[in-house]
Amino acid sequence: MRVVPLLYEDVTISFMADQKILEKIIALAKRRGFVYPSSEIYGGYASVYDYGPRGVELKNNVKKAWWKEMVQQRTDIVGLDSAIFMHPKTWEASGHVEGFSDPLVECKKCNHRFRSDHLEELGKTNCPDCSGDLTEEKNFNLLVEAKMGVTDEDKSKAYLRGETCQGIYLNFQNVLNSTRQKIPFGIGQIGKAFRNEITPKNFIFRTREFEQMEMQFFIPPDKKIAKETFAYWKEQRLNWYLNLGIDSKKLRFRAHNEDEKAHYALAAEDIEYDTPFGGWKEFEGVHNRGDWDLSRHSQYSGKKLGYLEPDGTRITPWVIETSAGVDRAILMFLLDAYKEDKDKKRTYLSLHKSLVPVQVAVFPLLGNKPELINKAKEVFDSLAKQGFIVEWDQRGNIGKRYFSQDEIGTPCCVTVDFDTLEKGEVTVRDRDTAIQEKVNLDKLITYLKI
Ligand code: ATP
Repeated sequence: MRVVPLLYEDVTISFMADQKILEKIIALAKRRGFVYPSSEIYGGYASVYDYGPRGVELKNNVKKAWWKEMVQQRTDIVGLDSAIFMHPKTWEASGHVEGFSDPLVECKKCNHRFRSDHLEELGKTNCPDCSGDLTEEKNFNLLVEAKMGVTDEDKSKAYLRGETCQGIYLNFQNVLNSTRQKIPFGIGQIGKAFRNEITPKNFIFRTREFEQMEMQFFIPPDKKIAKETFAYWKEQRLNWYLNLGIDSKKLRFRAHNEDEKAHYALAAEDIEYDTPFGGWKEFEGVHNRGDWDLSRHSQYSGKKLGYLEPDGTRITPWVIETSAGVDRAILMFLLDAYKEDKDKKRTYLSLHKSLVPVQVAVFPLLGNKPELINKAKEVFDSLAKQGFIVEWDQRGNIGKRYFSQDEIGTPCCVTVDFDTLEKGEVTVRDRDTAIQEKVNLDKLITYLKI
């Protein structure tokens, strides 16, 4: 394989230097089919988003990376997929009906609503939009209510789950009875959660419908074991982001102050990422929930939820939880991967290879030459058969095709040209360096797998 001078030139784009990074990413996400605002044809639906063709692949890859590491590659964690609807008592027992709230204030002049803890962080005592006076703080419950039942008289209140882990607690005994697990062990789950957020904002960072990847690790009720397990899971979770390419300088842990801990937490630390929209923000939480959830569900259901030690002692296990947001993780990966190559006048996403929505793109050099198209189709088919996620593009000039694959984050583009027909060589171009290499077709798969 030899490096060749640029065979197919990149197109020129103009940079709007003053445009903010998040705005640029939102525009790119829409332009390239990652994320669209929901219900756009009806004028949009505030802070709800849909994942497009590239977004759904990225999202599935993020979930796959989590599931593989947190469930499939471990002997001490099993998976679960519990329903979104649960018996409404679940949310009384969990403390969410009573205590799952954010402090709300409203501007007396423009009626905009804010979380008072967020205003405190900004040092604001008046409305940040119009400087108007603010109302007294009220607690605003975040659970999203639904009505279940066929007729009006039948209908009863239900909740869309506010966190996925409650389904894990309700199934704790089922999992224990149907697997060979013994304490310590964990249950992992990925799924939708819903919260009536007061101020959903910052794209997919804070929305009312989102996905969580949560793992509850059940341990003996012991402070020392809890402390060690907590430290262990902090390290594991931080490494997950680092191993997927996140810049270590942009990640940190922050322990919760006593007054910000959730009602269930004995200890809580957030994995924070340094964002371009207000600096350090929470992307994942590691919590010691003690025996709060299992004890409360035992109390409210009247069923004993616990664990019999080999010596016959009955214990209520404690729980160390890792709770990550799928959408927030996607935002972190996009923020971290977004690169502007000013010399080559291009934008690209340097996403980790295991997360990219497209692994390789195949182009015939010219879209009107059947012999090139046929050969390129052969290359496409052979790569697809090998399990690569391949994209085809024969529109426009090669520079524009590179430009669009760079923005999707495709690590390699393969161009079939006249050298392919004559010498069996394709041109492979690398996303991060924009270097083009000639590669023999019989070495292509090995080359791409490295
Ligand atoms: P915040 O303080 O930002 O409201 P939280 O402390 O309420 O978050 P947790 O209840 O610990 O969040 O939820 C665990 C994870 O779920 C968060 O770290 C985040 O990744 C994700 N998450 C929570 N709320 C939202 C939301 N409204 N939109 C998107 N992701 C969310």
